[in-house]
Amino acid sequence: MNYLLLFLSVAIGYIVALFLRKRELKNMEVFLAFSGAFLLSITVFELLPEVFETPSKSIGVFIMLGILLQIFLEFFSKGAEHGHVHLHSETKSFPWLLFISLCIHAFMEGFPISEENNLLVGIIIHKIPVAIILSFFFINAGYKRSITLTFLFFFALMTPIGNFISNNYEMIHHYETQIEAVVIGIFLHVSTTILFESSKNHKFHLSKMSAVIIGIVVAYFL
Ligand SMILES: [Zn+2]
Ligand SMILES: [Zn+2]
Repeated sequence: MNYLLLFLSVAIGYIVALFLRKRELKNMEVFLAFSGAFLLSITVFELLPEVFETPSKSIGVFIMLGILLQIFLEFFSKGAEHGHVHLHSETKSFPWLLFISLCIHAFMEGFPISEENNLLVGIIIHKIPVAIILSFFFINAGYKRSITLTFLFFFALMTPIGNFISNNYEMIHHYETQIEAVVIGIFLHVSTTILFESSKNHKFHLSKMSAVIIGIVVAYFL
């Protein structure tokens, strides 16, 4: 069931993008701000306490590695995980670098989802706007539908696969905390970047600011 929901969040994003017009993308930014605040709150309220149950500096090192990994991935994805795509390709061939970096990101984020935290909801809310922005870009840049669908299909599979592996392979459990710490680093970078970019030029936007506060409050009471 969880696997299906994770897959569907990308499918929903694609369907929404089909009906979206350019000016409506503005409203997306409010939703994106909410998703960033929500993901950050789940990370801080639930994931951090999980990995620091027995405090150690090495956990901190893995968190920093996650942040570095995400910075590295964004050299290739150009920020698609946090809400914008810059891809300038004349050939409209399959964008491999974007694809691989997004897949690594999505694969990793499937690991810490469990019964003990609300990360499933956090990831679904995080994925929908990302999928909308990605699909919207592909459709408007004139990519072939077969390329768009192939890309999104495999991208949508990654988080369920990551979660499946973490649920079913005994060996993984030895590294559970370390992997979760890396993913925390990824989330910290992605979500704080969303928050940073949603107050571009340090301008105050009432709607985005409200979305951020609501995101934090909802995550707290979940
Ligand atoms: Zn960016
Ligand atoms: Zn993500």
